[in-house]
Amino acid sequence: RKGKNGYYIYDADLLQQRLPNIFLLNDLHHAIKHKTEELHAVYQPIVDIRRKQITAMETLIRWHHPVHGTIFPGQFISLAEETGLIVPIGEWIIRQACRQHERWRKQGLPPIRIAVNVSVKQLQDQQFASRIEAILTETKMEPKWLELEITENMFIYNETTISNNLRHVKELGVRISIDDFGTGYSSLAYLKHLDFDTVKIDRSFISDCPHSYYESMITNTIISLAHHLGINVVAEGVERPEQIDYLREKGCQEAQGYFFHPPLPANEATLLLQKGIAH
Ligand code: C2E
Ligand code: CA
Ligand code: CA
Ligand code: CA
Repeated sequence: RKGKNGYYIYDADLLQQRLPNIFLLNDLHHAIKHKTEELHAVYQPIVDIRRKQITAMETLIRWHHPVHGTIFPGQFISLAEETGLIVPIGEWIIRQACRQHERWRKQGLPPIRIAVNVSVKQLQDQQFASRIEAILTETKMEPKWLELEITENMFIYNETTISNNLRHVKELGVRISIDDFGTGYSSLAYLKHLDFDTVKIDRSFISDCPHSYYESMITNTIISLAHHLGINVVAEGVERPEQIDYLREKGCQEAQGYFFHPPLPANEATLLLQKGIAH
């Protein structure tokens, strides 16, 4: 009891949930501010199913915490989004991806797309598109190789800053991909709306293919819709050979998942590209 008419509500659960986050947030802030090597990028190959070649890499963030060890994005991205820290982190990871792409180009490796996840908080920032433009200039990367992965839920915000940023980056020649497709709230009409380049079918559908009728039909329908609209399709989270057989039969061009490769540190991703085979 606080006394007088005031009171505090003591919620042990809330305290337990939030307290570690406060420390974590402080550490994350430190990691990004001082450019420690704690934050780094890993790369997961996206494979052309038919040609058995790597056509893209998705950049995923990792945090090697000095005390807690590896912390996965699921444990800190939403925290970074809530606090706005995702803006500098997001910019940093895009720069890392572009630099890595430029290194691969200089080594004479066949060009591939490099994908980076972008959160809605970044697109709500007026400066987003001009920062992308600056990073492209700074790293000398050709815009057509950069693919920004956004989620459908972006559209429920219906904000002009978001659509302006998306239009601006498209004008630069950067590609846009819709991540986790099929799980969000958007209407299929959005597919036409901003001429997206890629849709990524969410792992929740792929994991039940081909044995579950419902998930298989959704997968099949997304592939066929994307084809008719001239959009590239990536199946996410492929783990088993029968999924590949199904996807190939339905005409899905690209897939990503542990069946091929997990996310890899830069040196291992480089070795893989040098070998020139997907699997
Ligand atoms: P996502 O964009 O859907 O990324 C795919 C996630 O699935 C990655 O988890 C990847 O490691 C995992 N994955 C890949 N293949 C398989 C598979 O065959 N089976 C299974 N079970 N999982 C697979 P990760 O790296 O833990 O990332 C989780 C999420 O965190 C990402 O989901 C993305 O939404 C977010 N994220 C990661 N890096 C960044 C980043 O740099 N910026 C932002 N804004 N978000 C990021
Ligand atoms: Ca993604
Ligand atoms: Ca995804
Ligand atoms: Ca996701």
